[in-house]
Amino acid sequence: VSECLTCAIKRVAIFVGYSCNNDCEFCVVAAKRGRPDRTTEEVREELKQAFQGGARQVVFTGGECTLRKDLCDLVAFARSLGFISVHIQTNGSSFVSMDLCKRLLGAGMTEFNPSLHGATASMHDSLTGRKGSFRQTVLGIHNVRKLTQGRMPILTNTVIVRKNYTSLADIARLLVGLRVHQIQFAFVHAQGNAARHYKRVVPRKSDVMPFVFKALDVAMKANVRVMTEAIPPCLMKGYEQFIAEPFIPSTEVRERGKLVERFEDVRISEAKVKFVQCQTCRFDRTCEGPWREYPEYYGSQEFQPVAG
Ligand code: SF4
Repeated sequence: VSECLTCAIKRVAIFVGYSCNNDCEFCVVAAKRGRPDRTTEEVREELKQAFQGGARQVVFTGGECTLRKDLCDLVAFARSLGFISVHIQTNGSSFVSMDLCKRLLGAGMTEFNPSLHGATASMHDSLTGRKGSFRQTVLGIHNVRKLTQGRMPILTNTVIVRKNYTSLADIARLLVGLRVHQIQFAFVHAQGNAARHYKRVVPRKSDVMPFVFKALDVAMKANVRVMTEAIPPCLMKGYEQFIAEPFIPSTEVRERGKLVERFEDVRISEAKVKFVQCQTCRFDRTCEGPWREYPEYYGSQEFQPVAG
């Protein structure tokens, strides 16, 4: 039932600012970090407009939205308008504070979306650029679980990069142990910091895939829902059912001075790329292809049409 509701509800993602306490080596908004965060009034106005436009699910994102002093007030405001679902997309570290967890839950947060990029403190912290961030995020997941007795949906994201791809199964094991509800492995998008250091950060997909499959097996065996993002079906042979894109709800995106009504259209037409050989592939109609920058570095040879 919740899946049907998720698909049917119109969703808005609001970028509330780009301040962050981490400095991930793959951060897609790194170039925007210096911009001032949006004011409380601006965000409230965005919420009102989105609600009037029919949105009933809101994702607060950034930057790190939990650094805002007014986040609990914004969550409560969204709920008072009538939003039935409020997701917090976060690096998760602020949830080490029980007080913040309690206040956000009390304000009406309904889903927790933390990121974990390593199975060990040294791996995660080296990717986030901040010592101690692993411990805080892991404790944050514990805290939310404990306070909600496992009822708050916890959907995690792990960005696949050169440093962590051989450890994906260990990351899956850790997340299974933390009893999250859904794990997502997203292939790095070369924007921001990742674009600046492409070869150091972005691995070749065909090198990564055996490790992705091992991680999917770990989650599958444990009965934990698991997804991959930005990996086309021609590389997912036998694992096609884990591709996230067909399940990502239609999303309106609101940034300062910018409104994208259907982000999925922009994702497909501008951010992803397809190839001549795709025309004979059985997945051509549903596949979005890899991120646009990928073949500029690694070519398109890995993407071979699937017969049938
Ligand atoms: S060959 Fe092209 S259409 Fe087919 S799965 Fe790969 S990227 Fe997608």
